[in-house]
This record gives sequence, C-alpha cells and structure tokens, in this order.
Amino acid sequence: MKLALSPDEVAFRDDLRRLYRSAIPAEIREKVEFGRELSREDIVTSHKTLHEHGLAVPNWPVEWGGKDWTPIQRHIWEDEMQLACVPEPLTFNANMIGPVIAQFGSQELKQRFLPPTAALDIWWCQGFSEPDAGSDLAALRTTAVRDGDSYIVNGQKIWTTLAQYADWIFCLVRTDPNAPKKQAGISLLLFDVKTPGVTIRPIKLIDGHHEVNEVFFENVRVPADQLVGEENMGWTYAKFLLGNERTGITGVGRTKVRLAVAKKYAAQTKVAGGTLLADPVFAARVAELENELLALELTLLRVVANSSEGKPNPASSVLKLRGTELQQAATELLLDVAGPDALPVGAADIGSPDWAQRTGPSYLNYRKTTIYGGSSEVQRTIIASTILGL
Ligand SMILES: Cc1cc2nc3c(=O)[nH]c(=O)nc-3n(C[C@H](O)[C@H](O)[C@H](O)COP(=O)(O)OP(=O)(O)OC[C@H]3O[C@@H](n4cnc5c(N)ncnc54)[C@H](O)[C@@H]3O)c2cc1C
Repeated sequence: MKLALSPDEVAFRDDLRRLYRSAIPAEIREKVEFGRELSREDIVTSHKTLHEHGLAVPNWPVEWGGKDWTPIQRHIWEDEMQLACVPEPLTFNANMIGPVIAQFGSQELKQRFLPPTAALDIWWCQGFSEPDAGSDLAALRTTAVRDGDSYIVNGQKIWTTLAQYADWIFCLVRTDPNAPKKQAGISLLLFDVKTPGVTIRPIKLIDGHHEVNEVFFENVRVPADQLVGEENMGWTYAKFLLGNERTGITGVGRTKVRLAVAKKYAAQTKVAGGTLLADPVFAARVAELENELLALELTLLRVVANSSEGKPNPASSVLKLRGTELQQAATELLLDVAGPDALPVGAADIGSPDWAQRTGPSYLNYRKTTIYGGSSEVQRTIIASTILGL
C-alpha cells in the first residue's frame, strides 16, 4: 500500500491548511484547541465560512454542493480541519440528514431542504433515541398516524443533542404498529421544532453543561409531504445515516491536537528531576498513545482508499470503536497532567490554571463518545457479524 501523498495531494492539503487558518477566526479555533465550549454563533460562523468556500458538504452529490473529490482528498479535508481546530460542519446537517435527503428524498424535498441545510440556514437535530430505544433503536414507540394530508405525531425522544439550538428535527416514527418486523413499520419525518405540541426540555450532563435534551410530541401535526422517501422505509434510511455518523466520529486529527496540548502542558509541569514530559513513565504512556493513534490513522487511510461510493463500510465500526477509545485516553492523559488542579471545577477563587480546571469536565464529557453513534458493545457485535463472520 502506498501511503505517501502525490504532489497534487500535497498542494491540495497545503491550500486547505492555509485557508482553514486564515478564514476561520482564531478565537473560535482556540476554543476548540483548548476544549472550551462553542456558542451557537461560533458553530454557525464556522459552518457558514466553510460553506462560502465550498467546503461544508463535499460529501454530498456535486449538483447539491458536493465535490468530485477522491476519498483521499476527502480524508485530507477532514483531517486538516481537525488539525487546524476548525469546528466541523454541523454533523446533523452535513453528515446525517443532508446525505439522506440527497439519496432518498423526492426532487421536491431536495430543492426545499438541501440548499438551506448545506448553508446552515436550517439547524437540524436528530430525533432517533427514546427512553427504551437506544441500542435497540427499532423498538421506538413514537407514533405517526396519517390524518388526511398530515401525520399526527405523539411520543418522546431523548438525548437530542443541541435541540435547544435547532430549527427542525429529523425524526424516526412508527407508522405501522402491525408490521411483521419492528424495523418494517418505521418512517422518517421532518418537522419544525416550533410546531405546536413540541416541547424541548434540557438534560444537564455530568460535566455541568446543557448539551442534550428530552423532546416531547403531543399531537404534533406534520404535513405528509415532509415524509422522507417512502412510508415504512425509515429503517433503511436510518441505517444509511448511522453508517455516516460512525465514520465521522473517529476524530484522529482531534485526538492528535489533544495529545499535543497534553504534551505542551506536561512540558510546563515541574516534577522531581525535570518536567513531566521528560518523565520516562509519562513519556512511555504518550508514545504508546501516539503509536495507537498512528495505527488507527493507517487503518482509516486503508478504509478510505478502499471505500466505494455511498456504501457504509462495516469497518466504520472499527474506526468508531477505536477512535472513541483513543479520544477518551487523550482526555484522561490531560486530566492526569492537570493532577489535583483538575479538581476545583468552576471555582473562581482558586488559583489553579483555567486549562487544568477544564480537564475534569472534558474528561467526564468524553465518556459519551463510547455511547453515542452506537455504543462500543454494539460496535463489537457489528464487527463480529459483518467483518469476522461470527
Ligand atoms: C451525549 C450524547 C448525545 C446523544 N445525542 C443523540 C442525538 O442527538 N439523537 C439521538 O437520537 N440520540 C442521541 N444519543 C443517544 C445514543 O444514540 C444512545 O445513548 C445510544 O444509542 C445507547 O442507547 P441507550 O442510551 O438507550 O443505552 P442502552 O441501549 O440502554 O444500553 C445500555 C448499556 O447496555 C449495552 N447494550 C445494549 N444492548 C446491547 C447488546 N445487544 N449487546 C451488548 N450490550 C448491549 C450498551 O452498550 C450500554 O452499555 C446521544 C447519547 C449521548 C450520550
């Protein structure tokens, strides 16, 4: 396997490298680098700037703003964005509902939704999980009953990320409760979260932030022309969407940045005989993590080089599983560099540095990565059946 970039790819990479660092405001990139919370405005600014440069949705079909890039070019686009600490285009729009509408939606739905979705003029949220339907998503119970030219939606979603910022929701609903298989009676509906009957309630996470929500539906009337594709085919669209979600979670570039930050602070941390970075036990731990990350990156490149257009690759489960484990290992490393200074979370009158105080919440927040997008146990089951043939 040839791993070196061609001269054209190097030029492509260098152009992106320059653009990311000049077009996206430094204060937004700094927030990403040091794990500070991004505001809605930051995410919109970054997404819209990328969109203006044709870089928000390169994975979409060309006629809807995508790029006719090779898989390696797409990889470079994503990796360099992460290395430059640019907030990635809003995943609900760019990786989830956009590609689904482009692949399965009617021409009318495409014209209505794809341009504002690409431009982030509509902020989407993902209404899949329910209190008793997470890993077993097909057990979902939110119903949509046809009434004339509408559906009437009743039920509840949970863990809906950033629904507090959202304009619209893409929502899995049960349209045929009598289908022979539970997967067969599910449809995908799009609706405005301001529709009467929708209530969004915050859930405070273990890091103290408001990132996810409960969303309740009480007799929400949704025009039937906001159904994606065919009624009762929602499971097919959901599987397509989840395959894309998983690959986007790998985050090799993001983990590289986090390791670099950990090394920077370790170099400033004095221990007996020198700095923490020079400590052999610490250095061995960093080296092991860097090697693991390199192995993941090579796997990612192999997957990218062999991926066929539009088909979710079962290896996306390997990338999700390992990528999120390494993200967690990097947040743990940073927490250990901070040591006791990580403890006084949010206390204004304590002298420990701001970066150290943030490592605790960040470590806690990153526990989510091995849960969302399909938990690690679920990924192992997929790997066992689809890759190992067990
Ligand atoms: C921060 C965060 C953000 C999220 N954002 C969204 C969002 O925007 N939209 C959305 O729809 N969902 C979202 N989710 C939900 C996420 O997809 C689910 O949490 C996930 O699918 C797991 O479902 P669950 O929480 O119901 O856990 P459960 O499915 O109840 O699982 C509990 C435990 O049992 C294990 N388990 C379950 N089934 C099996 C099995 N068959 N074999 C082995 N082990 C098993 C799991 O691995 C887990 O450890 C988010 C979750 C988090 C944490």
